[in-house]
Amino acid sequence: MVTENTVLGKTWGEWEEAFPIVAEIRALRETGWQNREKRSSKEAIANCELTMADVLDANKRLERFAPYFEAVFPETASMGGIIESPIREIPQMKNVLEAQEQRGLPGKLWLKLDSHLPISGSIKARGGIYEILKTAEEIAIRHGLLHEGDNYRMFDSQTFRELFSQYSVGVGSTGNLGLSIGIMSAKLGFQVTVHMSADARQWKKDMLRSKGVTVMEYESDYSVAVTEGRKLAEKDPYCHFVDDENSQTLFLGYAVAALRLKKQLEEQKIRVDREHPLFVYLPCGVGGGPGGVAFGIKLVFGDAAHCFFAEPTHSCCMMLGMATGENHRVSVQDFGVDNITVADGLAVGRASGFVGQLMRPFMSGCYSLTDERMYRMLAQLADSENIYLEPSALAGMYGPILLEKLPAFREYVEREGLTDRLAESTQLVWATGGSMVPKEEMERYYWKGKELLSE
Ligand SMILES: *Cc1c(COP(=O)(O)O)cnc(C)c1O
Repeated sequence: MVTENTVLGKTWGEWEEAFPIVAEIRALRETGWQNREKRSSKEAIANCELTMADVLDANKRLERFAPYFEAVFPETASMGGIIESPIREIPQMKNVLEAQEQRGLPGKLWLKLDSHLPISGSIKARGGIYEILKTAEEIAIRHGLLHEGDNYRMFDSQTFRELFSQYSVGVGSTGNLGLSIGIMSAKLGFQVTVHMSADARQWKKDMLRSKGVTVMEYESDYSVAVTEGRKLAEKDPYCHFVDDENSQTLFLGYAVAALRLKKQLEEQKIRVDREHPLFVYLPCGVGGGPGGVAFGIKLVFGDAAHCFFAEPTHSCCMMLGMATGENHRVSVQDFGVDNITVADGLAVGRASGFVGQLMRPFMSGCYSLTDERMYRMLAQLADSENIYLEPSALAGMYGPILLEKLPAFREYVEREGLTDRLAESTQLVWATGGSMVPKEEMERYYWKGKELLSE
C-alpha cells in the first residue's frame, strides 16, 4: 500500500514541486540552499529586534563575572577570566582538501577553536554559561546581595551558594548544552536538572552526575526532551528553564563571540572589508549557537561577512525551514527524514522559529553533508593539523569546498559580486566542540574516519 504523507495540508509531492530542494532533503542527498532574501546588513540591522547595544550589554556582563571565573575555574585565569578560544590557520588541512577535491580552495583557511573553550569544551560554553550568569545576577540583585560596582568574586561564597540552592535550573539538550548549563549551575550552587535526548553520549551523562547534576534520560529526540523539561519547570516558580528554542539570552551570549573575533583577526593582521570578504561556516542544530554567532558577525563586519549554516543530511532542519519559508512549522521527520546522526550536537529535527525568523535577512545559505564526510574530515584534520574535534564540529569544514563546487553557492558568489575577491577572502570554519570527548571515544571516531578514507 502506498500512502502519500501530507505536511501542513500539502503532499510531499506538492512540496517537492514547489521547492525542489525538498526532494534532495528527502533523498538524504548532500545539498545546499542560497538565501535570496538576504538583505544588506544595514537594512537587516535596522529591522531587527536585537541590536549591538544588546550584544555589548552581554559582553559587559561577562566582563563583570571575569573575577569570579578566575577564582573558580583556574583554566580561565590565563585569559583574565574570559572564556574565549583561539583562531588558527590550517594550511595543511587546506592542502589535504584541495588534493582530495582536485580543486583549489578560495582564500586562506582558518579554524575557530570553540572545541577548546574552557569549562565545557564546546560552543555551548558561550550561550549556556551566559544565560546562567544572567539568571544568577538577577537573583542576587533581587535579594539585595549585589550592588553596582561590587566585585563578582563574591559569587564564590557560602552566602551566594545558599541563596542559589533555593532555586533550580532545567534544560533540554542533546548533550553539550546540558554539559555547560550543568557545570555552571552546579558551580554557583543551583539545583540543576538536565533532560537528555537519546543521542546524548553516555560520558556526558556520567560527567554531569559526578558533579551532582540530575540527568533525566529520554528515549526520544531533542524536541521531546525540551518539551518535557519545559513542562516540569513551568510548574515551579523557583525554576529557571533554559529554553534553547526561544531564548534571546542564549543567543546574545553566543553573539559576543563576534566582538572577540574582531580583535583576534586584527591581531593576525587579517583584513575584513568589501575587498577582503570573510566567509564563516557554522554547524547548526536548533540554530541558537550559529544564529547568535552569525548575528554578532553581521553586526560587526556588515556586508563584508557571509555566514553559512551546516547540518547533517539526516537533520537539516534549518535548511528545510528556511528553504520552504516555514521555519519551525516543519520538521525533518514530517518529511520522512529520521534525525539520526553521529553528529549529536546537531541532532535536531525542528529548528528554532525565533532564530529562523531573525536570521532570514542576515544568513547567506545552508548546506548539508553526510556523517561519513564528517568522519573523514575528522581524521584528515587530526592527521594534517593534529587537531581533534567531535564529528559535529567538522560540519563547517565542507563549506569552503562548496563555495565553488555547489551551483547554488557559485551563483551566490556571483550575485554578491565576489568572484574576483575569493582569492583575498578568509574562510573561517567554526569548530564547535571536541576537547572533552574521552580518548577512547575520540579514537573510535578517528579510526572510523580512517576506514572510510581507505575505501
Ligand atoms: C549545540 C552544538 C552546535 C549547534 O548549536 P545550536 O544552537 O544547537 O544550533 C554545533 N556544534 C556542537 C558541537 C554543538 O554542541
